[in-house]
Amino acid sequence: MIKSSVNSLYTTVECSRCTICCREPIVPVTDSDLKRICRFLKKTAEQIVRFYSIDEMDYDSESGLWIRFVQGKRAMGLRKRLSRCIFLDDKNNCSIYDHRPMTCRTFPYMIDLDQDNKPLKVKLNKIVNCCCKRKKRSPLEEVIENAKVELEEDSRYYEKVEKWNKQKKPGTMRDFLMFLRLNGE
Ligand code: SF4
Ligand code: SF4
Repeated sequence: MIKSSVNSLYTTVECSRCTICCREPIVPVTDSDLKRICRFLKKTAEQIVRFYSIDEMDYDSESGLWIRFVQGKRAMGLRKRLSRCIFLDDKNNCSIYDHRPMTCRTFPYMIDLDQDNKPLKVKLNKIVNCCCKRKKRSPLEEVIENAKVELEEDSRYYEKVEKWNKQKKPGTMRDFLMFLRLNGE
């Protein structure tokens, strides 16, 4: 576990570019992520995301990302092709790097923020066997700024999912994208 110090220096890591994190997990996205990607690529949300079942996506069943549909609970994540994120190109680069989801921007860090949005704890995400190398203690401002945006956008998205899930009749996946105002994007 990486502990923060009084002078805001953290143990940072150097990515080895193994691309495991772009291949193994399903990447969950919010409506904010999707709007940015759709705008950049001029594609529809349906071309970018799929709705994954609880058997396909290893997340806490109580997590706010589960959406109630006629077919059961699903979570919205980036589509994959041949077991890779659709945006991982032939040279193993992210083809939407400047527009990638917030979770990709903060990985492999997990940052707990306090009520004033100051980092309480910085640790490494163990969802995949990340082989990044530990570096010396150094500032982590950009990742911390991204973690703040991620937290805000996740909260707003989870509120929308909660509202959707309270509807009397579960709708379809297309209805959900319309509900998020993503039908035209
Ligand atoms: S969007 Fe980019 S960084 Fe994120 S999983 Fe896909 S290829 Fe990797
Ligand atoms: S799993 Fe870790 S080392 Fe591999 S690409 Fe992702 S962040 Fe880099």
